[in-house]
Amino acid sequence: MFFSESVQFILKRLEKRGFSAYVVGGAVRDIIMGKTPSDYDIASSASPFEIKSIFSDFKVIETGIRHGTVTVIINNEAVEITSFRSDGEYIDSRHPERVSFGVSLEEDLSRRDFTINAMAMDKSGNLIDLFYGKRDIENKTLRAVGNPEKRFSEDALRILRGIRFISVLGFSAEERTYEAMIANKALLHNISGERKREEILKILSAPHFLSAAEKFLPVFNELFPNFSLESAEKISRIKNDAALKLAAALENSPFSALENLKLDKVTRVEIEKLLSANVPAVADEFYLKMLYTKEGDFGKKIIEFKAPEMKDLWEKLKKENAFKSKEDIPLKGEDMKALGFLGKEIKAAYDFLLVSLNKGEVSLEKEALLEHLGRNFKKIK
Ligand code: ATP
Ligand code: MG
Repeated sequence: MFFSESVQFILKRLEKRGFSAYVVGGAVRDIIMGKTPSDYDIASSASPFEIKSIFSDFKVIETGIRHGTVTVIINNEAVEITSFRSDGEYIDSRHPERVSFGVSLEEDLSRRDFTINAMAMDKSGNLIDLFYGKRDIENKTLRAVGNPEKRFSEDALRILRGIRFISVLGFSAEERTYEAMIANKALLHNISGERKREEILKILSAPHFLSAAEKFLPVFNELFPNFSLESAEKISRIKNDAALKLAAALENSPFSALENLKLDKVTRVEIEKLLSANVPAVADEFYLKMLYTKEGDFGKKIIEFKAPEMKDLWEKLKKENAFKSKEDIPLKGEDMKALGFLGKEIKAAYDFLLVSLNKGEVSLEKEALLEHLGRNFKKIK
């Protein structure tokens, strides 16, 4: 059977109570493509309240009751069940003005974004494919459901979802779909950073990202004003690292492009450091040692981003234990105080020692360090 036990159970129980119920969306796409779905969405003629009462002997979470979605947990598997819905008119390229429930399966499928995502399957595995999604999968074609122009202007996030399916699956957009994606690109500015971010991250690390970037360069330029095919090549060379990939996409773009993505603080700070780092043109051991002292292992990302030709030297120094940080210095705060240093001087003394260590002027032994400090530090203070 194509469906998990829990999904079969849910479909059967809903039908037994007189409602229709189908697996829809990404799971059907996966099954038709011969993949095992990672999660299942079910669409049903039952209302959210009917679904809650039908599954009252299980844990039910009101995931998005406003959108008609509840999640039922069976055997530790979370299955989303959504009442058939239709989205009505869209107001600002983002939000449908009203969502109505209890409509037909056909209406529910016709509000979905792409034909490959607009198929349904009943409990026996019969395919309901009103928009020829199966044919499009066979031809590796991404095609909007209905009028492409209207669908992308209703919700511009679909442009990014489309590019995501193309870059993950290696599909091509059908001509009118393609043209409407490009034509509506400016509407992406109406979409929240939170919604865009996830799609963008998936796109940047997808297997067919490079050819998608070539095709959709104008869309990428809308998100990242200075994006070029060189940026795309750089991104495709970077191994799975969100901060590095985003930094490559954002290189030389105005700061607002980064702010718009509403990233978590850690990633944002990393990207800012990557973009602002000044790496010398020629490989230099002292520079790399100081970079480690200042940034720890994050320094490696800076090198990877700004000067990949120095990566081997970085690895070599790391393997030789040539990198030092404050924690390696065998002097405690009390030792510093005993030398008469206070407050800011203590930090300055550690910094001074790290520079000396990186220059090879002193060895990493307590006596030697104390002597070095006593002899040289006061003089330059
Ligand atoms: P994934 O494999 O990433 O889960 P998916 O196609 O299942 O891909 P979801 O975000 O889980 O994507 O959405 C489930 C289904 O809901 C989609 O297959 C599609 O039918 C519909 N859908 C999701 N987002 C939109 C949208 N912005 N506009 C129209 N339909 C959408
Ligand atoms: Mg899904």
